[in-house]
Amino acid sequence: MDILETIREHAAKTPDAPAFVMPAGSITYEDLWTYSGRVAGWLAGLLLKEGQPIPVYGHKNIWQPVCFLACVRSGKPYVPLDTNMPAGRISDILEAVNSPVVFATEPLPDGIEIPEAAKVFETAGIPESAKKDGETAANTAPEIPGSSKAVAKAAGVISAEGVAAIAENADISAVFADCANAKTSVHYIIFTSGSTGKPKGVEVTTGNLEAYLAWSVGLVDEKAGVFLNQAPFSFDLSVMDTWTGLATGSAVVCLSHDMVDDPAKRDTFLKDKGITYWVSTPSFADLCLGDPAFGPGLLPDLQKFLFCGEPLKKATVERLMERFPAAGIVNTYGPTETTVCVTAVPMARAMLAAEGPLPVGYVKPGTEMYTMSEDGKRLPAGEKGELIITGDTVAKGYYHNPEKTAAAFFTDDKGNRAYHTGDLGYVTSDGMVYCAGRADSQIKLHGYRIELGDIEKNLMQIPGVKSAAAIPEKKDGEIYGIAACILQEPGEDTSYARRKAIRNALAERVPAYMVPKRVAFFESFPMTNNGKLDRKALEESF
Ligand code: AMP
Repeated sequence: MDILETIREHAAKTPDAPAFVMPAGSITYEDLWTYSGRVAGWLAGLLLKEGQPIPVYGHKNIWQPVCFLACVRSGKPYVPLDTNMPAGRISDILEAVNSPVVFATEPLPDGIEIPEAAKVFETAGIPESAKKDGETAANTAPEIPGSSKAVAKAAGVISAEGVAAIAENADISAVFADCANAKTSVHYIIFTSGSTGKPKGVEVTTGNLEAYLAWSVGLVDEKAGVFLNQAPFSFDLSVMDTWTGLATGSAVVCLSHDMVDDPAKRDTFLKDKGITYWVSTPSFADLCLGDPAFGPGLLPDLQKFLFCGEPLKKATVERLMERFPAAGIVNTYGPTETTVCVTAVPMARAMLAAEGPLPVGYVKPGTEMYTMSEDGKRLPAGEKGELIITGDTVAKGYYHNPEKTAAAFFTDDKGNRAYHTGDLGYVTSDGMVYCAGRADSQIKLHGYRIELGDIEKNLMQIPGVKSAAAIPEKKDGEIYGIAACILQEPGEDTSYARRKAIRNALAERVPAYMVPKRVAFFESFPMTNNGKLDRKALEESF
């Protein structure tokens, strides 16, 4: 599959078909192609260094996919950033990729540090007014793409209005990079929670994505339809609906954060959209199941639920089978590091009756999965160990992070590129994969991937916090929240105000879903025999 060529063909054959249906408007395939071509042409004129990643910030507006495609068409990876990320995290990512141009399709939050590279361009001549009111590109970009003057005047932080001004300017010639080398070039970089307190950027190449898409289009029988997009574009689950949608010439209907939380708003938006393929985390389906309107009356065209990102519970499947007797339910599994997902299996009633968790599926062609013992040996089928994923969707690595890349990615005993998932599980002799928890302190909360160490490192940067532990709160074995455990001297302030201050300070550093609902103070932490923090004992103390 050549994904750009495929989208170009859809734009030529079905120009008026909607590509994205957003809360504030839609964009057709023809416009998506034309607009992204012009923005790509403008980007090419900036003469950025090879492989320069370009941040695209926003939330469910049409300019995000235009920018994503524009970046890729000009040979640059895009870095999707969502409005649910706090200023501190966005600044960290902008600093890490240091791009001279940042597409801010929504206003960046206050307190963002503009990357050094963008500052160079800004001081070279972006009018002060343009920087503030977001008319940077509108004022300047269409002038002379490619000339040094355009570079100096146009680069920097480009607002939605700026993107629109470039996209709608017919004087900018579109470029269609034929991507001769693009299979190995990075398509997108998605940042995930990192145990060191700084996010890690997973570099997925065009070749990885195309290998994934060659398989994922089969999950919807290679037919155009209407995908539901629940996840923000900064979460790799969104790649399933966005890029499989584009690959099949489908429409992608995108929910905004406020719709996720508000059933009335959500139902009004979803009604009459003709959703055929539902892509979400299982947690989101659980949330929707609480809404009595969630059923074939609201979604009469629904054919399939595609789940990924966290364990799918039997109770969720049972309830969905009752509500949507005509729809298929597919469980899929995979980490961002191996491009969205690499296994899939349709749920059957017999699976609900069987002991243990639901299977996550059979691996796609081009991928092999097996388990490994703690001492790094390949285990026979059926034996529990760490799940290893090899093959054509294993990502290039972590952006500018050779140490983490070397720790997680390797060449296996058969010479294949492989990834340590950190997931425990087993693969049966007929190739069915089962997950059985984690080997480390990464957790999933409502589908979001969280390194507890990430929360801890950021907690300890808050003035007055000497030592901290982040602990999952569980009920019936299920994680429903996180508690921040703070070490305090006797007599120190443990008031409600102090707890709130800690949560607020943390919210400036990590996404809202990583801020513990509960803050508890301890005068000492339980220790294991060898002097380590006894996480299990701490967990049990709640
Ligand atoms: P992410 O990179 O955010 O997609 O998170 C990947 C991790 O989510 C995996 O390594 C698993 O721990 C978990 N995960 C994803 N899909 C499933 C699934 N179907 N069942 C169980 N765990 C899953």
